[in-house]
Amino acid sequence: MAKKTALITGITGQDGAYLAQSLVQKGYRVIGGTRRSSILNLPRLAALDLVGQIELVTLDVQDFTSIMRLLQEEAPDEIYHLGGQSSVQVSFQQPLYTAEATGQGALRFLEAVALAAPEARLFHPSSSEIFGQNIDGKVDEENDFHPRSPYGVAKLFAYWSVINHREAYHLHASNGIMFNHESPLRGMDFVTRKITTTLAQIACGGQQELILGNLDNARDWGFAGDYVEAMWLMLQQEAADDYVIASGETHSVRAFVTLAAAAMGIDIVFEGEGLETCGFEKKTGRQLVRISADFYRPSEPDPLIGNAAKAHRKLNWHPKTDFEKLVTLMAESDLQRARNGQVWY
Ligand code: NAP
Repeated sequence: MAKKTALITGITGQDGAYLAQSLVQKGYRVIGGTRRSSILNLPRLAALDLVGQIELVTLDVQDFTSIMRLLQEEAPDEIYHLGGQSSVQVSFQQPLYTAEATGQGALRFLEAVALAAPEARLFHPSSSEIFGQNIDGKVDEENDFHPRSPYGVAKLFAYWSVINHREAYHLHASNGIMFNHESPLRGMDFVTRKITTTLAQIACGGQQELILGNLDNARDWGFAGDYVEAMWLMLQQEAADDYVIASGETHSVRAFVTLAAAAMGIDIVFEGEGLETCGFEKKTGRQLVRISADFYRPSEPDPLIGNAAKAHRKLNWHPKTDFEKLVTLMAESDLQRARNGQVWY
């Protein structure tokens, strides 16, 4: 039987790398769309030993013609459109770019699929950031939306575009309403990875302190390797649909820091409140954690916990990596990199 072809945009990112690994293992021919640049961003694909096992093509998601041409030439069976501006923090500084890359970028892809590859199945990663206010308990696919960041607004536009194209043009297009998912390949500008890389440098005698925003912010965190399996499962269903993908638990930034430090042999205790909070190494009394208002968002969503019951029931999707295992995995990986003097990515 001929191999199935999957096209992944954003293949150089965290999810792109884990998804490519999973699809290669499943026997797919994997084509990765990357932005043109003089130096390709390949460390994540290299970390999973994927360079050479996938085909990379230049694809600008802002250029409709290049998307059309690629779809006509490769006729992919499955499309995972993961490329786009993915940082909430950055979206407050670059709201128009975020709307263009993350919101309209998805619509441009849907239009191209409708015109050039209507039989292909498409996955779009929406986000828990499309919810945001008036949250009472766990959120699922039936909750109202109220995004609290330009990123959330862009993801909501893309979410409705997927549904509209599914209904209007009968595309097999699905949204994963993805809650935060992390890994040793998470971008450096996300808080979890900032915590593990900085603590690893502290543990190795490098950087002196970790500066964070609100320690009491809580997130529903899962492991990216588990979440990409849900993306694949959505495209194996007879009918396209939308699913919350979440762990169903929240943990605070404070808990993440404490656990990550413990995995590196550092016992941290916190004193004070709000902006005055400090984290000290218990053994030496040395201050390791400081709070800065610079890392507070202009607006925050209510604490969000996802209810992934529909994905459990219909996709038979069950995450394998719990919070403690995830934090330990990230902490140990960054400690190892720091000890080896490896460049971060
Ligand atoms: P990531 O590590 O930041 O990767 C983003 C990818 O998109 C990279 O390959 C990047 O390419 C590419 N990209 C960035 N801007 C682009 C643009 N303007 N045009 C084309 N490509 C662009 O993100 P991720 O964590 O893998 O997330 C994958 C997708 O899931 C994103 O759409 C994200 O918004 C969404 N999502 C993620 C989470 C999460 O917790 N991780 C939760 C909900 C939704 P370069 O290498 O060239 O920069």
